[in-house]
Amino acid sequence: MEVSQGSYASILTFVFAAALLASLLVKFWLASRQMRHVAAHRHAVPSAFARTISLDAHQRAADYTLAKGRFGLISMAVGAAVLLGWTLLGGIDALNIALRDALQPRFGALAYQLALLGSFAAISALIELPLGLYSTFHIEQRFGFNRMTWKLYVLDIAKSALVGVLIGAPVAALMLWLMHAAGSLWWVWAWGVWMVFNLLILLLYPTLIAPLFNKFEPLADESLKTRVQQLMARCGFAAKGLFVMDGSKRSAHANAYFTGFGAAKRVVFFDTLLNKLSPAEVEAVLAHELGHFKHKHVIKRIGVMFAMSLAGFALLGWLSTQPWFYAGLGVRPSLTAPNDAVALLLFLLVAPVFAFFVSPLFARVSRKHEFEADAYACRQASGDDLAAALLKLHEDNASTLTPDPLYVRFYYSHPPASERLAALAGHPSLKPS
Ligand SMILES: [Zn+2]
Repeated sequence: MEVSQGSYASILTFVFAAALLASLLVKFWLASRQMRHVAAHRHAVPSAFARTISLDAHQRAADYTLAKGRFGLISMAVGAAVLLGWTLLGGIDALNIALRDALQPRFGALAYQLALLGSFAAISALIELPLGLYSTFHIEQRFGFNRMTWKLYVLDIAKSALVGVLIGAPVAALMLWLMHAAGSLWWVWAWGVWMVFNLLILLLYPTLIAPLFNKFEPLADESLKTRVQQLMARCGFAAKGLFVMDGSKRSAHANAYFTGFGAAKRVVFFDTLLNKLSPAEVEAVLAHELGHFKHKHVIKRIGVMFAMSLAGFALLGWLSTQPWFYAGLGVRPSLTAPNDAVALLLFLLVAPVFAFFVSPLFARVSRKHEFEADAYACRQASGDDLAAALLKLHEDNASTLTPDPLYVRFYYSHPPASERLAALAGHPSLKPS
């Protein structure tokens, strides 16, 4: 028994280390391909965009992509080192033992485990802080996207932490209690709780949480409002309200989105979007978003999320009972205290390393959905306006027009502009019949 547990643990250590190394190599390889590709095409605007995009804008996009790419390499290396530090190098083990010895005798198992999860979250946030600061106040700043002040940055962190504790602590406590008290099928219960929690957040986020960070005002522009309402009526779509969000408070990047569920659904425009696009273009962008609903992409995404979390919880339910799961990832499981919080942490840290290898599948489905939503927008609004809006947003966001094709396949959740515009141009509704 001893021997086989030990060898299972060694196998897991090896498989994990190999997967981490392989994912890191693939990520570095893809990132360097992307950077080489963008740099090689920096000197000239691709012919398809020669009339619409200036050389200046094209080179700005290339420089922005390269700056983010270099920063991405550093973040990846740091992320992998931190992950190794937490797991195989004994970070979680040390933190776990220190908190267990200090807290469990006096405050009980639940309090100690909550403290473990909380300390882990706090330490992780501290490690990521310099990266976030550099990205916002150096890269985004340099390219004119950052609108954050230091005060706002600190305030955001404080608010997020508060919301995180208020929401996260009770959910974590409930999970830990289920793991401890609900028997060997605890993971089915935990999954149910997790799903209800997610739906609640979807329901409450737009009205309770988002307003903590941004101001939402009803859309005041009457002509745009009429346009949007006519579009929604045409598409058979009801929403509770049209709002403008002060996205410009943080960043110059533009966006529009739907939030909420059923009757609580609302449409939110970033003020930055309304400033950049004409009313017809805003309508086309919104028609694209409606396309995601009409094609049931949102429901499908939620369904996939439900199924994957059930599989995840089942896997965690099994792994958490296996001593080699802990030992193989650098933690000595306790015989006298519950190991539930440790199991949760290890699982959340290690699962993404393996999930990385299937992520291109999801990106592929997502790109297909984008084409479907674009086609829907062509039928319900104007494809020419959508094309114009896409170009403007691309230029304003300094997105590269010349990404590496393999990088696109692996990562892009949206098809590159060239492909989307080509598909829009070829759409039957735009051709003279
Ligand atoms: Zn979309």
